[in-house]
Amino acid sequence: MTTLPNLRIDAHVHILGDGSAGSGCWLKLQKPYHKLLARIVLRGLGLPGSALKSGLDALYIDSLVKMVRESSIDAAVILAHENVYDENGKLVPNFGSFYTPNDYVLKLGKLYPDCFIPAVAIHPARPDAMEELERCIESGAAMLKLLPNCQNVNCSDKRFSKFWERLAAAHMPFLAHTGGELSVPVFNAKYASPEVLTLPLECGVNVIAAHCGTPALLWDRNYTETFIQMTKRHPNLYGDNSGMNTPLRSKHFGRLLSEEASERIIHGSDLPIPISATWNLLRGSISAGGWREAQATRNLIERDARIKTALGFEARSFSRILGLLPAGVAERMRE
Ligand SMILES: [Zn+2]
Repeated sequence: MTTLPNLRIDAHVHILGDGSAGSGCWLKLQKPYHKLLARIVLRGLGLPGSALKSGLDALYIDSLVKMVRESSIDAAVILAHENVYDENGKLVPNFGSFYTPNDYVLKLGKLYPDCFIPAVAIHPARPDAMEELERCIESGAAMLKLLPNCQNVNCSDKRFSKFWERLAAAHMPFLAHTGGELSVPVFNAKYASPEVLTLPLECGVNVIAAHCGTPALLWDRNYTETFIQMTKRHPNLYGDNSGMNTPLRSKHFGRLLSEEASERIIHGSDLPIPISATWNLLRGSISAGGWREAQATRNLIERDARIKTALGFEARSFSRILGLLPAGVAERMRE
């Protein structure tokens, strides 16, 4: 096995847009708390509130490129965001809260090869799922991203075996949201369990359970132990520590740092989800000095990385993803 370059990767960064610069993205802020969250997000990124009216496409990408280039992170995996489909592959209109097309992240990957690694999103029930997967592989996709509970993906439906087998053959990992969700509406809560990922794991896909099954809301079920137990049966199951510098998920950092889980953890921020060290300070898992240093860091990609290091996540958690990406991605990053 070739040795991996010692690069630091943020493996979970969302791409948002409003289509104002031809991205093909859309964003719908239906509920009042979505609007509030959007304003908090913009402030965190240093963007004006007017970006919600127009201009978000360019402002968001400019801000993200700057953050990656000015941080200790070498590159970010940027995520497309799929629509919601029913079991028969029919589009469910007006359900999702945002959409980011595959072509846009693939294009950004080519425009900023030093910063971005593109991850595409394809609902396997789509009638054109196999063709779209081939097209994305051909165009340089490095990962697949889905939110099974929000996009209604029963990953263990036997009809999807061929889709997962092709993904495994392309050596593309599958980043799947697990646990509760706060910022995107949930369509089918039972797909929040990491157990829904059994079939892709059996088909040989390297699966990354985003958030390791941790709960986002008070009434969410906690699937952290389910995730940890599954890692014992599936050597190809990983989890990311993204979106966890938040009120409830921060409670579970300790389990991910335990001997049972730490070897499988991959670094991710979940930007633009707000990132604060305060929850860890309140839980006593970070020192007052560590908290001050993190909060003084305006660059959110860097702030998240610093908090994770202060909490005790090992250096390998930042580079582990490189071993799971298609051949050539790590080499390309090194150039
Ligand atoms: Zn996310």
